[in-house]
Amino acid sequence: MNQDIYVVIEHLRGQAADISYIMLGGARALAQKTGGEVVAVLLGHNVQSLVNNMSADKVLVVDHPALAEFTSDAYQKTLAGLIAEKEPRAVLFASSSIGADLSGVLSARLNLPLISSCQRFSADGRPISQICGGKIMVESDLPEVTTLLTMIPGGYKPEEGQSGKTPEIIKMDAPALDDLRVTLKQYIEAEAGDVDISKEPILVSVGRGIQTQDNLELAEELAKALGGVVSASRPVVDQGWMPTSRLVGKSGKTVKPKVYLTLGISGAPEHAEAIMGSEMIIAINTDPAAPIFDIARYGAVIDMFDLFEVLIAKVKETQGIR
Ligand SMILES: Cc1cc2nc3c(=O)[nH]c(=O)nc-3n(C[C@H](O)[C@H](O)[C@H](O)COP(=O)(O)OP(=O)(O)OC[C@H]3O[C@@H](n4cnc5c(N)ncnc54)[C@H](O)[C@@H]3O)c2cc1C
Repeated sequence: MNQDIYVVIEHLRGQAADISYIMLGGARALAQKTGGEVVAVLLGHNVQSLVNNMSADKVLVVDHPALAEFTSDAYQKTLAGLIAEKEPRAVLFASSSIGADLSGVLSARLNLPLISSCQRFSADGRPISQICGGKIMVESDLPEVTTLLTMIPGGYKPEEGQSGKTPEIIKMDAPALDDLRVTLKQYIEAEAGDVDISKEPILVSVGRGIQTQDNLELAEELAKALGGVVSASRPVVDQGWMPTSRLVGKSGKTVKPKVYLTLGISGAPEHAEAIMGSEMIIAINTDPAAPIFDIARYGAVIDMFDLFEVLIAKVKETQGIR
């Protein structure tokens, strides 16, 4: 085993996901402790341009048509051979449907330990991860064998995994990928016509405290005055009051707006983990003990229905709108 930290780059439609850069930031912190290098692992077809701003010492590129889109079968086969051959100290996967699929199967297949939901590494390189849906953080040893980890956002910023320099590129051969049991038949685009909340700079996010679907109009009016859009926690989406495309959280989207204004959201771990990249979280909640106040920069213990009219009027006044 060597002391290098490998990062399996997640990408879709020609773009590396933010979590890939977050993992590279985490890998750098860990590699400084293990004394190894940060090695990005890029599987795909014609994706070499993605390496340009990665903060890695090396990038292992495996280029093959069967790797053009993620399939568990092709990715597992490729990574199983690569990890067994290289024996890095740790391999980081995104805590996503792709990362969960790969890390779980590879852990069983290669008989390697797996630490899931790792958020960051301590000053001495110990993984700090979430258990019980984020209610408890655990600091553990990094086992003395190649260890697989899935990483969640919140510990490192994407910029920490980016650099102006192009890393050394090493091309690797793909294994035989002609007997795959799973192949991609069709790529289905996400619902068209709605906004992409992961790219919006201002989000007014409503939770169960909004009480009824009709009350959403107030949030819409506030969002419009602020130049933002409305997003929601899971109970609001589960009720069918807002489309899934507006869901923030573990089962929805990770967001990183300049302003994330929450109205009647308690701040459960499954919601909180997806908003940690926000520049400013502002919380409105009637319960002073709501966990959302632990992560908000500004907060007010107030009934949102006492706030809407005054706040909308104030925002419009500031902007000279009547
Ligand atoms: C596997 C799994 C995945 C999940 N994925 C997600 C996910 O993607 N996104 C997500 O959001 N949740 C997710 N959840 C659910 C999560 O655990 C919480 O149940 C959910 O986030 C709670 O939503 P909430 O804060 O809107 O509701 P609650 O927790 O019920 O909080 C409502 C809040 O509103 C406040 N309030 C009530 N009335 C008012 C008022 N008039 N003015 C101001 N404040 C008021 C209350 O004090 C309370 O804090 C997931 C759970 C699991 C197990």
